[in-house]
Amino acid sequence: MEGGLGIHCLKDVNLACQAKLAWRSMTSNSCWASFMNFRYLHNNTIWDAKPAHEGSCIWKSFKKLQFFLKDGTHWIIGNGENTRFWIDKWLGDQPLCHIFPHLTNTHQKINWIINAHGEWDTSLIDNPLLKSYLQDTRLLPCPDPSKPDSLGWEPNDLGPATVKTCWDEIRSHSPKVNWHKLVWHPLFLPRVNLFLWRAFHKKTPTDEWSTQRGFSLASRCHLCHTHIESELHIFFECEALTAVWDQLALWFKVNPSRMLPLEQSLSQWSASLHLPRQGKTLGKIMFLQCLDEFWKARNEAKFNETPPPHPSHILNTVRKSISDSISLHHSSWSSNTSTATLLTSLGLTIHPSPPKLPIEVKWLKPEPNWNKLNVDGAAMGNPRPSGAGGLFRDHHGIFLLGFSCSTKHNTNTFAEFFALYREDSHYGLHSTPPHKIHSGLRVTQLL
Ligand SMILES: [Zn+2]
Repeated sequence: MEGGLGIHCLKDVNLACQAKLAWRSMTSNSCWASFMNFRYLHNNTIWDAKPAHEGSCIWKSFKKLQFFLKDGTHWIIGNGENTRFWIDKWLGDQPLCHIFPHLTNTHQKINWIINAHGEWDTSLIDNPLLKSYLQDTRLLPCPDPSKPDSLGWEPNDLGPATVKTCWDEIRSHSPKVNWHKLVWHPLFLPRVNLFLWRAFHKKTPTDEWSTQRGFSLASRCHLCHTHIESELHIFFECEALTAVWDQLALWFKVNPSRMLPLEQSLSQWSASLHLPRQGKTLGKIMFLQCLDEFWKARNEAKFNETPPPHPSHILNTVRKSISDSISLHHSSWSSNTSTATLLTSLGLTIHPSPPKLPIEVKWLKPEPNWNKLNVDGAAMGNPRPSGAGGLFRDHHGIFLLGFSCSTKHNTNTFAEFFALYREDSHYGLHSTPPHKIHSGLRVTQLL
């Protein structure tokens, strides 16, 4: 399956990086590539150069990728002096030696049929079949005598090879799942994201899941007490919960559908929703949010022996959690009129959160003839090593006195109060002129 968090197989990524490096060794003019050319390539391609056992580990890794690179490489014709007419791939998707094996001359370069004006001259070809092939094919590229032949990477439209195109060619492809974006949708809480991810991978820890892993269980659904507990049963078959699906189908004006594994059920539900894109997403999110509520009901019944909740309670909880999430992402959901109508019809009340106002944090001078004391204390944990300190400043803001001390292994609160205590015991809180005290603790402002 493909889709999800985009975590790649490191082995494939490593091979793709090696392929990119190998490509650069053949096509780049950098100092490093010049060294590789001098040491190993001698103006050849990797697949024509010396064997792997005669080189470093880097060269060996290049040679391991030689057939992969050869398959993806296509020669772009310039003056025709470097491309071999029969062996290299420059016309169509295979070398001419595969089409005309009996005519092959390994050393012949392309420029033997390019005339002095830089045009193709097929009159030099004796074989009528080859001549006809070259004249008929619409792929015959225009030579460019002003520049040498060069290599093009087919997966990148004959541009240079990149790690991305190499990786895409190296890795094994699988069918894409239809739920990978939905599972990580921002309207779900992170806990629900993870629950859904497990559910779609058939890893919900039901009794059936435990039995498949060798645990011997006398399974029974904790909600209806009549069936074996499985993912399919809890999500779609349990009689204690199926009324939720009926009500949801009624809200979205579709026929209820059940009795299918999760992925197919979601596809079926999605196909039945005849709504604009955002409305359809909302329908699928409500569908998946119900699954989370079902699982919570199952856990409550199993571990706290709570009776199954009423379907209306589940639906109200689903509506509330989605309303709260949409309120946080209001701007993207309120602009569409049809979505707003749908939200209202579903009873989803949106309360856009008020904009956050900046709060100015600034030290203010005390009134004339007053001094101000700022004290603070902090700990590296509760409790952990901690310290306290304070500053006296007059009404001009001029520093008068300061102190700091360790409060040893204590809590934040202790450190805060100790700063005050220290100030009072050492410098006299009520001496004249009077002080104004500011500390990290609000309570000290009452003193
Ligand atoms: Zn049940």
